[in-house]
Amino acid sequence: MACSGSICSRGSAFIKKFSNDRPHYLSATINILPTSLANKIAAGEVVQRPESVVKELLENSIDAHARSIAVTIKDGGKTLIQIADDGLGMNEEDASLSFLRHATSKIASYDDLECIRTLGFRGEALASIAAVAQVELKTRRSDDDAGTLIRIADGVIQEQSKTGMSRGTTITVKNLFFNTPARRHFMKSNSTEFKHIYDAVQRIALSHPDIAIEFTSDGDAIANLPVGSMDDRIKNLFGERLFSTLIPIEERTELINVTGYIGKPNFARKSKAEQFIFLNGRFIISRSLNHAIYSGYEHLVEKGNFPFYVLSLELDPHKVDVNVHPSKMEVKFSDEQSIYRIVMAVVRRALGEQEVIPSVEFQQPGSSPAHRQTFGSFQHAEYPRFANFPPIAPSPFTNTPLDARPGGDAQPGRTTPFGLNQEPLFSTLDIPSGSIQYDGAPVALTMDRIIPGQNDTVAIWQLHNKYILTQIRTGLMIVDQHVAHERILYERAQSRFQNAVPSSQQLLFPHTMTLTPGDFALAKELIPDLELLGFQVKVFGKNTLVLEGVPPDVKAGSEATILQDIVDEFKNNQNRIVLDARDNLAKSFSCKAAIKAGDKLTELEMRSLIDQLFGTSMPYVCPHGRPVIVKVALSELDRRFMRT
Ligand code: ADP
Ligand code: MG
Repeated sequence: MACSGSICSRGSAFIKKFSNDRPHYLSATINILPTSLANKIAAGEVVQRPESVVKELLENSIDAHARSIAVTIKDGGKTLIQIADDGLGMNEEDASLSFLRHATSKIASYDDLECIRTLGFRGEALASIAAVAQVELKTRRSDDDAGTLIRIADGVIQEQSKTGMSRGTTITVKNLFFNTPARRHFMKSNSTEFKHIYDAVQRIALSHPDIAIEFTSDGDAIANLPVGSMDDRIKNLFGERLFSTLIPIEERTELINVTGYIGKPNFARKSKAEQFIFLNGRFIISRSLNHAIYSGYEHLVEKGNFPFYVLSLELDPHKVDVNVHPSKMEVKFSDEQSIYRIVMAVVRRALGEQEVIPSVEFQQPGSSPAHRQTFGSFQHAEYPRFANFPPIAPSPFTNTPLDARPGGDAQPGRTTPFGLNQEPLFSTLDIPSGSIQYDGAPVALTMDRIIPGQNDTVAIWQLHNKYILTQIRTGLMIVDQHVAHERILYERAQSRFQNAVPSSQQLLFPHTMTLTPGDFALAKELIPDLELLGFQVKVFGKNTLVLEGVPPDVKAGSEATILQDIVDEFKNNQNRIVLDARDNLAKSFSCKAAIKAGDKLTELEMRSLIDQLFGTSMPYVCPHGRPVIVKVALSELDRRFMRT
């Protein structure tokens, strides 16, 4: 299109102004900033405080394959930061190019940007640092006769010469922000800046235990970390004691590998400082992954407490974008949901394999509060396993005929109201037959379960039709029957979602129900997931549904109300917390289908409940975070009865 109109004529006026050599500030025009000023502006994003310098220089040393790095600072890094490495070094030409903006040896094309394997790639750290400090670079490659020395300040090279040195690179940064007073005043006290630098060194040290790191501040040796394994590095940084409270994680999947350690919940601290996620060797900040980890803990950690974790994720670099922010700490995953699910599941499983039962200490005379619950005792799993019995196939027309089984106290043919023994849970713990010990003695296994009268090892009682009491080696275990069943049904629901093999019992008399328009719309939306759970629901005209089948877990007699109950609970949950729709449905279903306080259980049902509870991945808390099990130690009873 031909160039006409006011824009072009204005443009020519601008050119005239410039060609008249008028000072820029007199004209309301666009200025092309001088490089030194542009670099200072750009530096603002890369170099926010001394810590950023340390982080960037350490990343460069790692990218240069250093085996050992020495970090020296003074005055919280304000007057001096020096990073010396034994990495590949640079030749003279590269050394002077390295201070130019967008000068990098790490990428050359857009394709490279799509697949970042190094910590750096933006080519702006050295340029930014040199724009706001006095910098000295000494570097030498192993093949070169001599090293190169460059002194640069305010972005301008002051001196370049040859120097004698061994292979590697030493960068010294003095008087940070000497030429940007606003930034200089923004720095905090030396001790605060030191703390930030310490954190940066710690992150690098944790992500690269294969590199020796020495850290000196104001002449004091702060850390001296030899090359070692991840275990050694954690012990060196946090001490043997903390290490002994960690649970190892290792999961390798096609999409991602997750390794590292997570802290046992009762050792959680009040601060988030000891939480580290590394992605392909880079420390990252990810709200979504933090959330995944917390969801894995699933209420085992009290609000305001933060568990320790160091998780290293390895992922094909094509599947992650690290070019989100100049600090390179934010990332975008192409398949965030799958990664979220894997991380959450890995954490949950690792915790589920530990014993995290709350134990109760009663009030000491004169003390408060009335009782205290702590998540304690990790020595060894200690719960009664009654039997390792095969699951019973659900009957198509009745709920579980548990009571009709030997030892049940009901008449043959009567159906039990509780679907307690329907199908294996997806993570049933594998116990070799005959290996079950209870109070040190092997427990007889039958094809079925321990039958009262035939096996006198473990007694079990129901208290007020609400709690199940049973003896364990260290005392008494109390289980809340409702939340225990909730946990079982919740995991069963999730496994049905995952495996998409619904199990359903057809109702002899389909149940027609009319809902409010809002509930009807919601229920209609939920139908595909409800079907996965085992509901058979059909839309039958305006605001009306017909329920033709229910999952076997639904209590006989509650078919008429269960769907409305689930919809109501789903809405309640929606108002309170943000949940994934399926998770919400699994929670709503398990809450509404579970046995209630007040439901009388047979002995067999109690044993079945306990067995299935310990087959779940997390028997100790219900999906809403309430404790399922409370232990009362024998020693506590002895104390109460003044036996000690
Ligand atoms: P980036 O790391 O994004 O490439 P930098 O400004 O941090 O950008 O560094 C520019 C270049 O200088 C790097 O690409 C690298 O080639 C070189 N370089 C920087 N530090 C070192 C070092 N410690 N050892 C060897 N080369 C280095
Ligand atoms: Mg860099």
